[in-house]
Amino acid sequence: MSSAIYLDHNATSPATEAHLSQVFEIVSKGLGNPSSPHALGRNSSVIVSESRKKLATALTFDVSEIVYVSGASEANNMGTVGVLRYFNAPGSEVHCLYSSVEHPSVREPLIHFGKKFGADVEAVPVDEYGVISLADLIKRIRPHTRLITVMVANNEVGCIQPVQQFANWLHERRWARSPQVNELDANLDARVTREHLQELHFHVDAVQALGKIPIEEWISTGIDSVAVSAHKIGGLAGIGALALRKGRKFEPIVLGGAQERNRRGGTENLVGITSFGLVASQILEADWWTRVEKCRVLRNELACSLDKLPGLKRNSSLSTNALPNTLHYTVVHDKIRGEDLLMQLDLAGIAMSSGSACSSGANLPSKILLAMGRTEAESKNSLRISLGHETSAEDVSRTAAVVASLLK
Ligand code: PLP
Repeated sequence: MSSAIYLDHNATSPATEAHLSQVFEIVSKGLGNPSSPHALGRNSSVIVSESRKKLATALTFDVSEIVYVSGASEANNMGTVGVLRYFNAPGSEVHCLYSSVEHPSVREPLIHFGKKFGADVEAVPVDEYGVISLADLIKRIRPHTRLITVMVANNEVGCIQPVQQFANWLHERRWARSPQVNELDANLDARVTREHLQELHFHVDAVQALGKIPIEEWISTGIDSVAVSAHKIGGLAGIGALALRKGRKFEPIVLGGAQERNRRGGTENLVGITSFGLVASQILEADWWTRVEKCRVLRNELACSLDKLPGLKRNSSLSTNALPNTLHYTVVHDKIRGEDLLMQLDLAGIAMSSGSACSSGANLPSKILLAMGRTEAESKNSLRISLGHETSAEDVSRTAAVVASLLK
């Protein structure tokens, strides 16, 4: 049975039929190889350039800084281990900092890299809301810290990290002639110089933030690379991008082709790139943000109903320091576990998930909730509800009623 109510937009926000028709109309003008010298190849190359302009504009990066990849998992691998591989020369010390609530596509490659090459890969703890402390992050920077990576917004609980504040602090310390004194400075190790800060790479996973909070207002200051993905904002899955600041050092992961200015080999995914360009343009329209606010109102209404149910304990915040579409609960019920509730909701035609799309299906405790200090049992019994632009008031009231009846 297909789900009549879809509340899993943080996993994938499905492309609409109108979007698919638009993509088809554009790519039908040139499904050749953009590297080919003939007319069909040139048409395809124009489609890629036009789409690249749209994504670059949405991210406020230069077109030359957009590297198309297969998805944000690959973009995160490039922006993290791709950078560490560059610095990992014989005899050099490599230290890296990542928040303990990063997506597996950041956390796992870093842990693997640390084990394999003896790099010092350090997780920065979070508080009970899933948020790192800026002072603590700055305190951990050392002269040989080559990479700092922090996601803007978390895919499970929707908390927003102080990425903008850190980027501003870093930008000022790197480039301002006389940086304004800030109370955060006292936390910085005296051995860390301006040159060290200029050299270290600050990577940001903005997958869940793009199109949900207006990151385009600040994302291009102080940040060296940004990972984004089309299928989280209504585009197709299988296309992502790394916006990589000009001149930043990294080692490509996919070799064997000169595409993407030698930063990522492989024939371009024309259909995906077209789709990403179209959805990226939409987030520049005022109407998009009106719909985001509508989502926030509906999310709050749903929270209001679900918060009253005795079997649910909310982990996500309703403040502006959290994604406007996300709700996350621990199921604390003596008769029904989180995964049973999800199954019964699915049978009732309501699609939700337990958290990360990549780990659902294998009832393992959520690493995010464990990092937030929840017990193993609490971390195994999750319900993540993520609304989209198509979500209606009726969807919300029906969902609240069905969850209430299942928890009775
Ligand atoms: N980063 C975050 C925060 C995500 O939520 C996801 C997907 O769930 C990814 C990265 C990976 O994105 P993709 O599916 O494009 O590889």
